Amino acid sequence: MGKIISGKEVSKVLREQIKADATALRENSGIQPGLAVILVGNDPASQIYVRNKQKACEEVGFHAFEFKLNENATEEQLLDLIGVLNKDNKVHGILVQLPLPDHIDPQTVINNISPQKDVDAFHPVNVGKIMIGNYDFLPCTPAGVMELIDSTGVEIGGKNCVVVGRSNIVGKPMAMLLLHQNATVTICHSKTKNLSEICATADILVSAVGRAHFITADMVKEGAIVIDVGMNHDENGKLCGDVEFAEVEPKASYITPVPGGVGPMTITMLMKNTLRAAELKLKNQK
Ligand code: NDP
Repeated sequence: MGKIISGKEVSKVLREQIKADATALRENSGIQPGLAVILVGNDPASQIYVRNKQKACEEVGFHAFEFKLNENATEEQLLDLIGVLNKDNKVHGILVQLPLPDHIDPQTVINNISPQKDVDAFHPVNVGKIMIGNYDFLPCTPAGVMELIDSTGVEIGGKNCVVVGRSNIVGKPMAMLLLHQNATVTICHSKTKNLSEICATADILVSAVGRAHFITADMVKEGAIVIDVGMNHDENGKLCGDVEFAEVEPKASYITPVPGGVGPMTITMLMKNTLRAAELKLKNQK
C-alpha cells in the first residue's frame, strides 16, 4: 500500500464484511441488526452526522430508527425514550448524538443506556471493560485508528506511541488500546511540558487535539506513523486535521489525510459494534 492510509479504502473493505456478516445473521437467525439514533435539537453538524449514520445502516443492511426531539425536550423525556429502546427487541444499538443541549447532562444519559446496547462504548461498564482488556465494544474512533494502523502491517508491540489529547471519547481509550497491543504509550495534553520533544520520540503519533496546524514537521520523527484524528476548519473554512500535512508527509512512513482518513472509519466501527450487539444478543438467548 502507499504511504497515505486511506480510511475510505479500509472502510470499504470492512463495510463489505459487515454487510456479509449481517446477511448471514439474518438468514440464519432472522435477526436484522437495528440501530436507534437519537438527535436532540437542530445542531447542523449533528444533523449531518445522524444522516450519515442512517445512510451507513442502509448500506450494510441494518434497520435505522431515527428519533428527533426538539431543543427544549427535557432530560426526563430523553431518559424515557432510552428506557423504551432499552427494551425494544428490534433495537440492538442506541446512540445519542452529542453534544446535547446544556440543560441535559450527557453522563446521566449515557448511564441510562443499557451497556449491551451502548454501541458508542461510553457507558462506565464498557469503559471499565476496556480498561481491563475484556470488552464487547470498542469506542468507534480509537477502534477505527487501530484498524488504520493495522492496515499498514506494522507491528505495534514495543513501539513508542504518543497520543496527544486525553478526552474520554478519543485520547484516553486510544492510549488504552495501544497499551493492550504492547506499545509504550505517552499521553499528552494542554498541561504537558516539552510536548514537541515528546511527540518527536513517537514511532506512532496520534493527534486528537482539535487545532489546525498543531503538529508540525519538527514534532515528527523520521519514519513515524502519523494518525490525524482532528477535524478542524482552516482560515479559509476548509476541513483540515491537526497535522500540517504538506510538511509532515515527507517525514512519515504512513500518514492519514483529513478528510478521508480517520473520519470514514468512525461510522464503520459503529456499524461493527451494532452487528456485534445483535450477535451477542442472539448468543445470550441460546
Ligand atoms: P476534546 O476537546 O475533548 O479534547 C482535546 C484534547 O486536546 C484535550 O485533552 C486537551 O487537553 C488537548 N489539547 C488542547 N489544546 C492542547 C494543546 N495546546 N496542547 C496539548 N494538548 C491540547 O476533543 P475530542 O477528543 O473530542 O476531539 C479531538 C479532535 O478530534 C477534534 O478535532 C474532533 O473534532 C476530532 N474528532 C474526530 C472524530 C472523527 O471521527 N474523525 C471523532 C471524534 C473527534 P486538556 O485535556 O488538558 O484540555
